[in-house]
Amino acid sequence: MSISLLPAVQAFLQRDHGQFIDGQARVAGSGRHLDVIDPASGEVISRVGEASQADIDAAVASSRQGFAQWSKAAPAVRGGVLLKLADLLERNREELAQIETLQSGKLIQIARNFEVDQAAHFLRYYAGWATKIGGETITPSLPSFNGEKYTAFTLREPIGVVVGIVPWNFSTMIAIWKLASALVTGCSVIIKPSEFTPLTILRIAELAVEAGLPAGALNVVTGAGGVGKALIEHPHTDKVSFTGSVPTGLAVGQTAMAANLTRATLELGGKNAAGFLPDVDVDKAVAGIIEAGFLHSGQICAAAERFYVHRSQIEAITQRLCERLAQLKIGSPLDESAEFGPVTNKQHQAKLGQLFAKARAENCTILHGGQLIDGPGCYVEPTVILANSAKDSLMTEETFGPVATFLPYDTEEELVELMNDSPYGLSASLWTNDLGKAMRLIPQIQAGTLWVNMHTLLDPAVPFGGIKASGVGREFGGAFIEDYTELKSVMIRY
Ligand code: NDP
Repeated sequence: MSISLLPAVQAFLQRDHGQFIDGQARVAGSGRHLDVIDPASGEVISRVGEASQADIDAAVASSRQGFAQWSKAAPAVRGGVLLKLADLLERNREELAQIETLQSGKLIQIARNFEVDQAAHFLRYYAGWATKIGGETITPSLPSFNGEKYTAFTLREPIGVVVGIVPWNFSTMIAIWKLASALVTGCSVIIKPSEFTPLTILRIAELAVEAGLPAGALNVVTGAGGVGKALIEHPHTDKVSFTGSVPTGLAVGQTAMAANLTRATLELGGKNAAGFLPDVDVDKAVAGIIEAGFLHSGQICAAAERFYVHRSQIEAITQRLCERLAQLKIGSPLDESAEFGPVTNKQHQAKLGQLFAKARAENCTILHGGQLIDGPGCYVEPTVILANSAKDSLMTEETFGPVATFLPYDTEEELVELMNDSPYGLSASLWTNDLGKAMRLIPQIQAGTLWVNMHTLLDPAVPFGGIKASGVGREFGGAFIEDYTELKSVMIRY
């Protein structure tokens, strides 16, 4: 049974949404609106105005002002505001989770536990960095000419106005990663949410004001088809942080470089691999595959899509997996007992339908699922496919959906070759009880993040980002600081 919506959520959905500029919600100037659609029912649940060029200019001007003020705030003040925002996320947990579920189709439990609770953890982690960002003291290396002396030090200075382009799969948490990285380093930030999921960040922007963030430090600009590009090309923005698809990421990177060598952090998807060594227990492997490939219907950039299992076990593992998937309760994301919900939009559902057709045309064996579920919602069956070769479309093209494609291997050398046979390298996982073997394989696997006996769980203390065509730059840990600051060297003669 579905939970009841909070009165605050119903009231929020009915509001006339637009942009959030200079500390307040504004109706959009373009006169155009985006319909926000509930992917579970296909119904329009809210409307959000699309930004006009004047709105974009106003947001950038506000962000420049915001930067001038916020970059001068004491580190402890910056950290304190983020800590207060984390508290406010938790205080408004149910409201935010319900809005997130309605706009994205994400199971309410995932919205509560990951989108909101994890976002608060990430905020607190980032807040801790506010007081720990610094440079180093250096003794210059060359001998002096006339007995004069030299000393040098470095400063980490905020880059300026950051544009954060946020995808629809985790529109609360990823927005928080981007705004926290920017704000804690002293940058101001403009969040451009996906046109499918613009609502939660508009509410979070209000909470940020309540937390004490000055006007202009965080602006939100909504729209579709050109707003992101206009923000990056704007002469007064300094950096873009983009999470999304590989082709769009390439376009974003090119737009940024051409604009003014605008800095770019690109966190893109790919075709992540999971390799199972012959010693794995079948039930543990199956639980791992569900964690790696089916969480949030596979709509996670770090999710695994290529599964390599030793030939001796592939039949047992895929059979048990199909049995487990057949038991999953597919239902409304507002039903707390549902285990599997819709994908986030009709375009994505249609793309998955095309990939299933390709798999059939290439004579792959569909072991489970492989169909879209009829109805107004965006439901897709959880799917298990056995490929014929590493070149099959389902082994090379990102599905970003609840689809696990398998290929058997015979030797460890072959496993490494198959796992690395991709232009992408965001994440990968190895599954084995033999720690020595895992340690010998770790340096051979090409991925920005490599998990052993786990997949998908991101931790704010552990840097995250892609190699090869899966991106540029790192989020989390201390690694994000390099991406959001410029390094200034100071040298003194005395
Ligand atoms: P995209 O990856 O295409 O990103 C769309 C966003 O990028 C929009 O906010 C858009 O803004 C902005 N954008 C597009 N072009 C530019 C540009 N040249 N400069 C600046 N910003 C730009 O996401 P989609 O929603 O279209 O999803 C497409 C596919 O991507 C999905 O089917 C899925 O497979 C994959 N995906 C991957 C994700 C990941 O985390 N790896 C996340 C989400 C989707 P505007 O509308 O204003 O142009």
